[in-house]
Formats: sequence, C-alpha cells, structure tokens
Amino acid sequence: MAPPTPAPPTNPPHTAVVATVPVDTRHWIGGRRVASVATFTDRSPLDGAPLAEIARGGAEEARTAVAAARDAFPGWAATPPAERARLLHAVADGVEARVEDLAIVETMDNGALLRSHRRGVMPRVAHNLRYFADRLLALSHDDFDTRGHRNHVSWDPAGPAVLITPWNAPLMLASWKIGPALAAGSTVVLKPAEWTPLTASLFADIAHEAGLPGGVFNVVQGYGAEAGTPLAADPDVRRISFTGSVPTARRIATAAAGNLVPCSFELGGKSPLLVFADADLELAADLAVEQYDNAGQVCLAATRILVEESAREIFLGHFLDRVTKLTQGDPRDEATDIGPNIHPRHIERVDGFVRRALDAGAKAVVGGGRNTELAELAELTELGGNYYLPTLLTDVQQDSEIVQEEVFGPVLTLQTFPEGDEDEAVRLANGTRFGLAATLATGDRERARRIGARLVAGTVWVNCFFVRDLSAPFGGSRASGIGREGGDWSFDFYCDLKNTVTAPKGWARHG
Ligand code: NAD
Repeated sequence: MAPPTPAPPTNPPHTAVVATVPVDTRHWIGGRRVASVATFTDRSPLDGAPLAEIARGGAEEARTAVAAARDAFPGWAATPPAERARLLHAVADGVEARVEDLAIVETMDNGALLRSHRRGVMPRVAHNLRYFADRLLALSHDDFDTRGHRNHVSWDPAGPAVLITPWNAPLMLASWKIGPALAAGSTVVLKPAEWTPLTASLFADIAHEAGLPGGVFNVVQGYGAEAGTPLAADPDVRRISFTGSVPTARRIATAAAGNLVPCSFELGGKSPLLVFADADLELAADLAVEQYDNAGQVCLAATRILVEESAREIFLGHFLDRVTKLTQGDPRDEATDIGPNIHPRHIERVDGFVRRALDAGAKAVVGGGRNTELAELAELTELGGNYYLPTLLTDVQQDSEIVQEEVFGPVLTLQTFPEGDEDEAVRLANGTRFGLAATLATGDRERARRIGARLVAGTVWVNCFFVRDLSAPFGGSRASGIGREGGDWSFDFYCDLKNTVTAPKGWARHG
C-alpha cells in the first residue's frame, strides 16, 4: 500500500507568506499580537492577487492601542535619552538585517521598484531612526539670563502619538515619524494605509526583537474611517502626525479638534518645474523625467512643467528622448523604470483626470492611457491591469482640473511662459491651492535667488530634485500641509517645550 500523501504544509494561523517572507497579519498592541474578528484582503498591485487577510481594526482596537501607549508612556518618557537612542539604533540594526525581506514585501504590497527598496528606501528607514536617535542627544538650547534669573529650555515628551500614513512609500514615510516620536520619548500608535499594511507588521517584530518595551510602539491595521478616526479622536492622544490627502486631513483635524490635539499634516501637492531658457536643458529634461518615479505617486512630484517659450522645443526633444527609453513592467525586474500604480480604483481615478483633460482640448504628447501592451500580456503574465503609461499633456489651461488637482500618477502637464517674463512664471508656479515644493532649472544664480524667494513652497530645489537632508525643515504651505518635520522641528512637535526660570536667591542653606 502506498504511504499516505503528506498533508501540504500550512502556514501558522495569522501568518501570510509574501514572496517567502512570513508576515503576521494581526495588530501589534501592548507588546503582543491581537486579532480582530473581521479581516480585509490585501492585494498586490502587480497582478491583483491576494497577499494576506489582514486584521480589520475598529474603535475597540484603537482604544486598546491608545491605552497601551498611554500606559507605556511614563516609563518610556523616563527612560534616559541615551538608552532611548541605543534602542533606536538597535531597531535600525534590525531593519538593516532584514532589508531584503522588507524590500520584497514592500514591492509586492505597493508596487514600487524592488531595486530602489533594496538600495535606497529600506537602508534609509534605518538611517532615519539613527538620525533622530543621534539628534536627540544633541538637542540643546543655550541657557540665558533675565535680570539675573536663569532660563533653561527643555523638551518634555508630550505623550502618545498617533501616526497615520499613506501607501505610496509606506515604511519610509512611517519611519520619518516613528524615529522622532520615539526618540522624543513619546509612545506611538501607527495606522498604516489599508492598501499597504505589511511592512508595518514586520517593523513591529523588528522593534520587539530589538528590545523596545511593550506598548511603546503599536500598530493598528484597518480602514481609515473605521480605525483611523477613533485613533484621531481618542482623548489620551497628545499628538497626531498624518501624511496623506487633503480631504482625510480635514476629517482628522475635525476628530482631533474635540481634544485640541496638535496635528502635523504632510499633504498633497501640484508642484511646478520651472525651466528657463538659460538652463542646462538636458539637465532640465532629466529632472522632468524623474517625476515619473514610483509611477508618479510621489507627493513632491513636480507635475507641472513650466517652460520659457524659446526653450520649449529643445526641452521637449530632450524630454521625449528620455521618456521613450523608460521601461515599464514588473517592479521586481532590475531593468524596470516604472512599475504599476497602486490599485485598480486609483488607476480609474488617474485615467479619469486624463480623459477629462483630453476632452477639454489637451494633447497627449506621450502616453495618455493605460499600457495596453502590458494589459494584453496580462492573461499570460498576470501583469497589466494597473500599469499607466508615462504621460505628458500639452495645451492645458491654468484654471483647468488637470493643472489644479493632484493626479498622483505618471501624468505631467506642460505650459509655457513668455520670454523673460518672470512675473508670469511665478504667477503660474504659485497658481494652485498647494505649496509643497518647487523645482527651478536655470543657469543664472541671481534669477534662482529672485524666483526662489517668490515661490510658495516648503522646499525649493534649484537644478536638482529630491535631495532631502533630515536636518532640513520639511512640509508644505497652503493646502499642502500644516507644520514642518525634520531636524529639531520634529522634536518641537513631539515634545512639550518647557522653560524653567530659576531665581538667583531663595536657596535653603544646608550647612
Ligand atoms: P489618504 O488620505 O486616502 O490615506 C492616508 C491614510 O489616512 C491611510 O492610512 C488611511 O487609512 C487613513 N485615513 C483615511 N481616512 C481616514 C479618516 N477618516 N480618519 C483617519 N484616517 C484616515 O491618502 P493616500 O491615498 O493613502 O495617499 C495619497 C496622498 O498622500 C496624496 O495626496 C499624497 O500627495 C499624499 N502624500 C503626502 C506626502 C507629504 O509628505 N506631503 C507624502 C506622501 C503622500
């Protein structure tokens, strides 16, 4: 008789195996895994295949997590800064040891390029933690005197912080918040985006293994309205840091208003790339093509190209040379430049913007729709559904939807301004409700200084793009955000600043 066929291996309960990496699908609350009765399906943007059934948190899980963060707060706040910094470095070591796992899981979950996750993004996550650990130890303000009285400024940990993050760079954006919040002595409840829940769960394991005490770092999974809103409204929360869209920021601000909780908002953008005829136009074209990174799902992307009239044709020639060389396809492939967009619903939205612009008279110089080649391949390779062609639209009006609204896909517009008309260039550049960033290509230092001073933007790049030092303030003006993060500005947000004034006299005399 033939021996019985061995049963196929089964995954441990609450574990999804994503490209060989086991990921726990439950929340992480108070130093242990917590399941929910309900779950939701997390799908890969690569092919729409289900990756995991994730715990679907709601008001109860939110309350439990904030209570855990509240209970852990006094101990963590009292932990000496040097010890907090040591633990953050230990977490960073853990991230570095698991770069490969984090990179592949993030790529499967959000569709961004594996090579950039491996070489850039995940090492940067570790760097972010290290930076804020070191910065904590350097925090200082000179004492000063007022009529002989000594003023001493200190940064007191504020209390539990809720961090709500988007899907376009999940762990990277979370680490910009986790690093300073934990360094500052605040405890954390992270709510990652429902389209990309996985690396937050891996990070919880890493933080735990590095020795972070239970309750100091918590993760609640779930949808924004179900899990995010109760987190934002919880009376034990002392800070809310949110990166995402403008409408969600309004909802969070409304929920936070009841408790007067300070919020830091990093929101959307519609940033300009200003190209003057005196610029190195090859460099300007390189900068323009960079805006397709992450399939255009970058808040900082300079999606409105504004070119001085006389430079238009040469610039466009260089730009088209480059765009036609871009390879679109599987983000795990080293040769791929542009992967999929996040979700079929998101692609519909992106395509809606483009269709309406074309109906209104815009012309697609390149792209203008889904990548049908990849869509045709879809049956064979399971790729295709979520791939949108890198697109450039001309003949667009300043007050049109395509120029005014954030598309968050690989879609750029091109407008011109009259020769030498800096006022018009600035008017167009500043002419949306956003103010996140602006990029300027010019060969004239004086012009760069003049124009830069007039641009409404949290960051201005001159002849470069996406250079970001953590010591710099980062954030948006107008509808692009509230507050600045980075450097000591992050500590200012996650702490209650205190000034202690000591009189020269009144000391008890003890022998
Ligand atoms: P989103 O606002 O839809 O969601 C972001 C997060 O908020 C998710 O975790 C979501 O679950 C949660 N959320 C949704 N509704 C909520 C509610 N009512 N209460 C509490 N939480 C809620 O944004 P998105 O689509 O995930 O991300 C794209 C947006 O993020 C774009 O506008 C982009 O520009 C912006 N973004 C900004 C920056 C920046 O630094 N300025 C960086 C990346 C992305």
